[in-house]
Amino acid sequence: MAKKKDKKSLGIEKKSGWLLMKKRERKRALRFADEYRAFLEKCKTERETVEFIVSEAEKNGFKPLDEVKSLSAGDRIYMVERNKAVVLAVIGRRPVSEGMRFVVSHIDTPRLDLKLNPLTEDPDASLALLKTHYYGGIKKYQWASTPLALHGVVYTRDGRRVDVRIGERSDDPVFMVPDLLPHLARKAQGDRKIFEGIKGEELQLVVGNIPVEDEDVKAKVKEQVLRYLNEKYGITEEDFHSADLEAVPAYPPRDVGLDRSMIGAYGHDDRVCAYTSLRSLMDVEVPEYTAVAVFFDREEIGSDGNTGAKGSLLEYAVLNLLEKTGEDGTYANVLRALRRSRALSADVSAAVNPLFKGVHDLQNAPVLGYGISILKYTGAGGKYSSNEAHAEFLSEIRRLFSERGIAYQMAMLGKVDEGGGGTIAKFLAEYGMDVVDAGVPVLSMHSPFEVVSKADVWYAYRAFREFFVS
Ligand code: MN
Ligand code: MN
Repeated sequence: MAKKKDKKSLGIEKKSGWLLMKKRERKRALRFADEYRAFLEKCKTERETVEFIVSEAEKNGFKPLDEVKSLSAGDRIYMVERNKAVVLAVIGRRPVSEGMRFVVSHIDTPRLDLKLNPLTEDPDASLALLKTHYYGGIKKYQWASTPLALHGVVYTRDGRRVDVRIGERSDDPVFMVPDLLPHLARKAQGDRKIFEGIKGEELQLVVGNIPVEDEDVKAKVKEQVLRYLNEKYGITEEDFHSADLEAVPAYPPRDVGLDRSMIGAYGHDDRVCAYTSLRSLMDVEVPEYTAVAVFFDREEIGSDGNTGAKGSLLEYAVLNLLEKTGEDGTYANVLRALRRSRALSADVSAAVNPLFKGVHDLQNAPVLGYGISILKYTGAGGKYSSNEAHAEFLSEIRRLFSERGIAYQMAMLGKVDEGGGGTIAKFLAEYGMDVVDAGVPVLSMHSPFEVVSKADVWYAYRAFREFFVS
C-alpha cells in the first residue's frame, strides 16, 4: 500500500504561475514586466517596433546580414524587410540545413489607417476631419471618444521623408472619433447592433476647428489644418498619397490591479510575444540549432503582402543563412532546412473573460497568470483553416517546458462553433516544419486597452529561451 503522501491525483493539477515562482524569481518577473511596459510605450506601430528591435539587436552584437560575408556558430545577424518586418538569427553549431528553431511573432496591430485623401471639412459642424479605413479586426465603437495619436511617415513630392508622431507627449494634441450623446442616441444608435454602433465610414478623426480668414477659400477649417501641416512638416494635401499614417490609442501602458499584477496597454497582440522572443534570443549564446526570431507584419489582415508571413521573406532569409554559412543556397536546400525546422507560432490567446464565460469551454480555456498558453490548433467550426500540431511534437514541447519549470497551459480559442480565428502557424506549416501556437493570454484582446498578466509575460520569455536552445 502506498503511503498517504504518495497518493497523488491522476488528474491535471492547475496552479497559478504566480505560486510557482520563488520570491527571487517573482522579483525578476516584475522587473522584466517594467521593461516590457517601457517598450510598449515606445512602440505602437510595426515601423517603431522594427526600429526598437534593430537597436536592441545592435546593442547585443547583431550585424546587418548584408554587411556580413560569412557566418559561423555564435554569429548574430538581422535582416529588415521594408522597415516593417525583421528577422534575427544566432547561428548554431549544426549546419543550417539540419533545421532551425523559429519563434515567429507579428508586430502589426489593429488600428485606424488614414485614407489616401483623408482630409475633409464638415461645414455644418465647422470641423476638419481625417477619414480612416480600419486595419484588422476591431469593434469599431471602442475607438470612439478615446484619445488617439497619429504615427507614421509621409513622403513629400520630392521624396523627403517626414516622421510623424503626434499625441504621445503630455503637451501634444490628440485626435478623437466623436460618439453620439446618449440623449440623442436612442434611435440613431439604439436600433443598431453593437458591432454597428459606430460604422466604418463613421471612424473619422476630429483634427481642427479654427477657420482661416480668407473669403476666397471654401473649406476654411480644412485650409487652416493644411497650413499648419505645411508650416510644421512641410507637407501638402497631396503628400497623404504617399504616407503610412496610423491612428493609435494615445495613452501610455499602465499597471492594472491593486497588486499591479497586470499590464493594460494598446498592442499586447502581438508585441508581447515579439518582445519576449526578442529578449530571449538576446540571451542565446551558441545554440545547437540556428535560433531565429521572426517579426512579421500583416498578420491581422491575413498575412498577405511582402512583409507578411505569406511573402517569401522567410525563404529569402534562410537562403542567405545557408549561403553565408558555406552551404548550398539552392531552393531545394532551403526547403530541406525549413522542413527540418521547428517553430513556435508566438501569438496571444483569449484569456477567460469573467463577464462572458459562456464563450469559453472553461476546461480548455487559458487563464491569466497560469503561464504561456499552447494551442494545438486554432481555426473555426470543425478546425477549418488551421494548422494542428502533431502529438509527437507536442509531447516534446510538454516535456521541455515541464522539465524547465515553465508554467504552461494547454488552451483553445473559445467553445466549438463559437467563432474562431487563425494565426501564422498554418503558413509556417506549409514548409513542412513542426509548429505549434504558443503565447500570452490576453483579456479584452483587439481593444484599445488589452490586458496581460505579468506572470505570463515572464513565462513566455523563459519558454522561448528554452525553445531556442532545444
Ligand atoms: Mn495576434
Ligand atoms: Mn490579433
